[in-house]
Amino acid sequence: MSFAHTHLLGIEPLSPADITTLLDLAGQYAEQGRSAVKHSDALAGLTQINMFFENSTRTQASFELAGKRLGADVMSMGMQASSIKKGETLIDTAMTLNAMHPDLLVVRHPHSGAVDLLSQKVNCAVLNAGDGRHEHPTQALLDALTIRRAKGRLHRLNIAICGDIAHSRVARSNIILLGKMENRIRLVGPPTLMPSGIGEFGVEIYDSMAEGLKDVDVVMMLRLQRERMDGGFIPSEREYYHRYGLDAEKLAYAKPDAIVMHPGPMNRGVEIDGELADDLRRSVIREQVEMGVAVRMAAMDLLARNLRAARAVKRPVMA
Ligand code: ASP
Repeated sequence: MSFAHTHLLGIEPLSPADITTLLDLAGQYAEQGRSAVKHSDALAGLTQINMFFENSTRTQASFELAGKRLGADVMSMGMQASSIKKGETLIDTAMTLNAMHPDLLVVRHPHSGAVDLLSQKVNCAVLNAGDGRHEHPTQALLDALTIRRAKGRLHRLNIAICGDIAHSRVARSNIILLGKMENRIRLVGPPTLMPSGIGEFGVEIYDSMAEGLKDVDVVMMLRLQRERMDGGFIPSEREYYHRYGLDAEKLAYAKPDAIVMHPGPMNRGVEIDGELADDLRRSVIREQVEMGVAVRMAAMDLLARNLRAARAVKRPVMA
């Protein structure tokens, strides 16, 4: 089994074997999630603290449920109401929490790199639940599991990632993961929403949906990340929908069995047609949410195994 990591800070440090190990275990947890008994005790006796410095619905709920299903003591901090508002720094907050001896710390932060920094100050496993526009590793892993289940494989697929690539940590983590697993990736969107230097990632770039979606197996839509835009990146939402919003007509450029994905939260009528998003023959958006719990269970289980092993090695030395 390959997964020799202390933290899950991004997809970048993972090997294809690490990704496969995690997805295989997540597949087992997905089955367990559909059965009558959803609990196991992989995290029994461990404490999981969730610190979300940015709003979250799916990710926070999903991490909470994942920890509870594995038997951890789970606490979610409402960081909006925390001492951060009174001027405490991220590191001071981390040190305070560290004194409570958590075993797993799940962190979302608006600044790229903040979660990495924090991981260097605490002595527990840290999971990145999204840092700025940098990475959102569990999202890319749940997307990968969803694709693998729908397509029967996770390699040699043509995958289009569409919309606001420039501001999206979801796009970044997916580009890295899907590239490592040897897929062909196309980025589709207006040039104003393409990050500079993206060509280095070995992707193809399109500014037309008709060309970008031609014969793809997977269409992954992204939200317009208004909170990270500081100017006029698009002429208007109407115009954007007309050119880049996914509807049945544009989906017809893709393969007839192409699946439709979206990480949520969705802006219906801006980046995706509401009816298409709900069409279970094409859309796997609900499955993505379900796989989110399974992937987070697998990630925390693997990190907890490494944490326990490291502590077992350390103990006799300290005695
Ligand atoms: N929920 C995802 C994220 O936190 C995608 C989004 O917000 O658009 O990055």
